[in-house]
Amino acid sequence: MSHPRVEAVAGEARAAIDRAASSAELEGIRVKYLGRSGDLTQILKSLGALSPEERPQVGAAANEAKRELEALLDARLEATRAAERRRQRERERPDLTLPGRRPARGVVHPLSRVRDEIVTIFTGLGFSVAEGPEIETDAYNFEALNIPRDHPARDMQDTFYLSPETLLRTHTSPVQIRAMRLQKPPVRIICPGVVYRRDADITHSPMFHQVEGLAVDRDVTMADLKGTLDLFAREMFGPRSKIRFRPSFFPFTEPSAEVDVVCFLCAGAGCRVCTQSGWLEILGSGMVHPQVLKNVGYDPEEVTGWAFGMGVERIAMLKYGVDDIRLFFENDLRFLSQFA
Ligand SMILES: [Zn+2]
Repeated sequence: MSHPRVEAVAGEARAAIDRAASSAELEGIRVKYLGRSGDLTQILKSLGALSPEERPQVGAAANEAKRELEALLDARLEATRAAERRRQRERERPDLTLPGRRPARGVVHPLSRVRDEIVTIFTGLGFSVAEGPEIETDAYNFEALNIPRDHPARDMQDTFYLSPETLLRTHTSPVQIRAMRLQKPPVRIICPGVVYRRDADITHSPMFHQVEGLAVDRDVTMADLKGTLDLFAREMFGPRSKIRFRPSFFPFTEPSAEVDVVCFLCAGAGCRVCTQSGWLEILGSGMVHPQVLKNVGYDPEEVTGWAFGMGVERIAMLKYGVDDIRLFFENDLRFLSQFA
């Protein structure tokens, strides 16, 4: 039982179902032919306009075609959806051959690493670590260190004052004063810590780190200082490292010396970092001024001492070739992860 008008639409629908490649396409075909205004639905709706002879033939043919197409669509849909689910499962299946994701591991900050290296070298030589407050009194930060109020040496350190009597320490030297006031010689201490100065450019930060060292005992000489720093340089910068002393001035040491190390980048040949001199300035040092010993209650006729101080940032910049001090404080992972 068929009718040419119905067969034209049904044939078209069958071909479309055959070609359909997805469940979405099949749903579209259902709407196009069997939906409320679908092609086959239109034929059924317009039966009333046909002649009484034609009406039952077209009606029966259209209803049969409708059932047939519905069954066809259901079958194709089921198969297509099953295939689609299979493909999705395939896509979502874990790939056991993929390398695992490693959890990100932090690294020791380059400044902490350099400070720890310095401290380890000196504790290995019998020095003990001493620490003190970052907020200091003018008396400990300056006066006990032979820098009275009107002394021009105060200009060497641009200071953050909190009040006329208190300030952010400009060096870790007041820790030495505190330590000496608390104990009798011999003293062998190393003082790592944060210090503050009003200074900011690519090689200066208003907050930076120092490590200072102090040795006081009977018969301590400048030769001991030189021997100790020589050993430090070889431990820190390599076994062939050399140092040299240059006369300098600090109010709290006499005599005073700047200490250079042979440039470890060019081995003394001269390069951009050492400005072709072959030497890098790494620290300041000297024999503790007799007045400083008196200020803490020691007798300079009985004991002598030496001290040195270095900037951790400067050593780290030289060691790792960092040309802007601010990189140490920006916590940029791209910078820090290079020290893994
Ligand atoms: Zn050099």
